[in-house]
Amino acid sequence: MITFQIDRTRSKTYLYQQLYEQLKQAILQKNLKAHDKLPSKRELAANVSVSFNSVNAAYQQLVAEGYVYAKERMGYFVEEITMFEVEPNEALQEVPEHLREDEKTKEHIASFSHMSADHASFPLDSWLKCEQQALKAERKQLENYVHPQGLYTVRQTLARFLRLTRGVKCRPEQIVLGSGTQQLLRQLSSIMNPDTTYGIEEPGYQRLRHLLESEGRSVAYVPLDDQGVSMSYLEKSRVSAVITTPSHQFPTGIIMPISRRIELLNWAVTNENRYIIEDDYDSEFIYDADAVPSLQSLDGSNRVIYTGTFSKSLLPGLRISYMVLPVPLLEKYRDKLAFLMSSCSTLTQLTLQRFIETGEYQKHIKKMTKLYRVRRERLIEELEKAFERTIEITGANSGLHFVVTVKSERGEREILERAKALGLEVYGTSRFYQQVYTSTHPSLVIGFARLSEEQMEEAVTTLKEAVYGV
Ligand SMILES: *Cc1c(COP(=O)(O)O)cnc(C)c1O
Repeated sequence: MITFQIDRTRSKTYLYQQLYEQLKQAILQKNLKAHDKLPSKRELAANVSVSFNSVNAAYQQLVAEGYVYAKERMGYFVEEITMFEVEPNEALQEVPEHLREDEKTKEHIASFSHMSADHASFPLDSWLKCEQQALKAERKQLENYVHPQGLYTVRQTLARFLRLTRGVKCRPEQIVLGSGTQQLLRQLSSIMNPDTTYGIEEPGYQRLRHLLESEGRSVAYVPLDDQGVSMSYLEKSRVSAVITTPSHQFPTGIIMPISRRIELLNWAVTNENRYIIEDDYDSEFIYDADAVPSLQSLDGSNRVIYTGTFSKSLLPGLRISYMVLPVPLLEKYRDKLAFLMSSCSTLTQLTLQRFIETGEYQKHIKKMTKLYRVRRERLIEELEKAFERTIEITGANSGLHFVVTVKSERGEREILERAKALGLEVYGTSRFYQQVYTSTHPSLVIGFARLSEEQMEEAVTTLKEAVYGV
């Protein structure tokens, strides 16, 4: 029998843990052999001077974990324990230095990131009020898993809203809510014909390409002309589903004119496997005109899958995006993906619904459009003042970024490295190409959503320093 070392200076619950631990070690180290009988609970309690309950708790735990088995009216016995074939090695489980993460995020002096929203202008109070009301009135919805496409009533609100603001024609049944455009595209690609070749705009949003490639899908690039995706290229390519950003081409900022939209729809109807995936990621913000209706609103043949997000109009951290499926794909979705759990938080869905229904969302868009318009004008002014005639600005009619091409001896990469060293966050156009990009002039994607007016002068001066400074 083993001898126990009980430390009584600790609390009572700890006594059973000590017994449990020491018995477990004895079993693992084979001091107690398989099928050895353990002392009866009373016996052990008396021997070690602990309570019967402590011994009982230790034995029950050992039984629950499979170290010990009980035989009726005979007592407790040691189980036969399978030995590890490879000794556990803690050193192997260390996360190496290059995979370690820093808990603080990088601080920049200013950011020209095109992938952000302005958190300082987020209407936190009214959002929280909507959240609180949603929690109070509808907490019952939170006790269940919801429909894979999201809550029906939330989709009703969104369907009405999309019709009103984007001309999108759909019933709530066609909407899928999700935690991001990538997650939605992953679902979409799993219900589309597996032979589909996806066309990505060149330049375009590479995160969708990377997602499709990681899913093993065939991907091709589709070059642009001055109206958006090149039709002559599309006609002769193997692309059957083209992902496009007609409202504000990402990143060039081209707004696709009506004729090109119709040409694209004409291309799609010639074959029932052809689709257009319309990524309408920042159409809420347009500065010198009224909103241009979505491409989906022109589609009368079930060829367009419409995707949108609240990442740019509210905050990326909310993770709420959506897609609208044409009927044949909805049929497939219901067939193949009915097992899915919604990836979008129910509370966020309900909060957003109230936020839209109470008019807060439209109010916010109005306020932000005003703010972004001023910011964009100021920034263009600052840039033109600093760079004089050495820059060209394009794609600034809508959205939250534009493209700046600079005449400089320096290449894009060198400029970006210098900007980084100066603490400025900025990205070059070349990262949005699939093919190696060669341009005579470096060009930069300049986002202004997160750039306050106070930071603007310093940001532009720093950019100039990166481009021309010694
Ligand atoms: C921001 C953005 C999206 C939206 O991404 P989410 O994952 O839905 O936040 C989609 N497309 C483009 C081009 C974007 O810039």
